[in-house]
Amino acid sequence: MGEFELISRYFAGLGPQRQDVLVGVGDDAAVLQPPAGQMLVASVDTLVAGVHFPGETDPESLGHKALAVNLSDLAAMGAEPAWATLTLTLPAAEEGWLEGFASGFATLAAQVGIQLVGGDTTRGPLTVTVNVLGFVPPGAALLRSGARPGDLLYVTGQLGDAGLALLALQQELRLPKPDREAVLRRLDRPQPRLAAGRALRGIASAAIDVSDGLAADLGHILEASGVGATVQAERLPISEPVRRWLPQAGGWVLPLSAGDDYELCLTVPPSRQAAAEAAGAQAGCELTWVGTIDARRGLRCNLDDGTDITPSAGGYRHF
Ligand code: ADP
Ligand code: MG
Repeated sequence: MGEFELISRYFAGLGPQRQDVLVGVGDDAAVLQPPAGQMLVASVDTLVAGVHFPGETDPESLGHKALAVNLSDLAAMGAEPAWATLTLTLPAAEEGWLEGFASGFATLAAQVGIQLVGGDTTRGPLTVTVNVLGFVPPGAALLRSGARPGDLLYVTGQLGDAGLALLALQQELRLPKPDREAVLRRLDRPQPRLAAGRALRGIASAAIDVSDGLAADLGHILEASGVGATVQAERLPISEPVRRWLPQAGGWVLPLSAGDDYELCLTVPPSRQAAAEAAGAQAGCELTWVGTIDARRGLRCNLDDGTDITPSAGGYRHF
């Protein structure tokens, strides 16, 4: 199978056929029609085998995850996804692998209405780069810089599942099968919180997606906004498996520090609390209050009895 056959067989026109794609895969570049009056939101993320995922990750999960982690960035901006490009570096063109990868990517693309409009395909160590483009009305993007003292701190969904899955994969914990499968699914198939991000436009004062762990990612909001925060660790929303394994998995530091959950962390002015909770419900997404923004810089994380469990400044850094 040659390069062009590979592209046309697996990647030409993947996802819904959108009216605003004038030229998609197959020419030198895509030609796209952004809606009048909307701002374009762009983001790119790379997944490298052995760094972002174990080399033996099943291809369907990888196809899903490569798109999902990018959609999560659009969700954190409150943007609506439209178009994607895909840069694939592969050690070999294996049909079974490509079929699985394209199918994982396509299923999520169809769910969220994003079309693959181009890309690049090269030979080398397995690396997947996805670029996403979306729209947001002027002035409506959720930024990291808008948090103010007194704002309430919320997170979507549940935290710590992906971190627990990593501990299970690294053989540090032997989870029973149902728990293991539930948390592995959260690691392999993160669901970007697009509906919640859009619903909270004009309500949340700041937002970020939790890819490196809540403490690290909230740290970016605090830095960009010039504020601090106090997190009540025992208010962090956790799943049943995480609750069961918390004592063996590092306690409340797990949902506080573990990455890869792709939930959203949002700040909400107190006057918009009811609106935020209604927007979360309308988006079909659980929103949990976990702390408060304050004027004193830095992050403080406490247990209910007042014990300080603030993680040392962290998050995964490549350099
Ligand atoms: P060029 O040599 O001009 O870079 P390519 O041969 O790389 O063109 O690509 C041919 C067409 O196929 C282009 O439209 C490109 O966007 C598309 N394409 C290449 N690789 C991929 C991919 N992995 N997924 C989607 N489209 C791709
Ligand atoms: Mg090329």
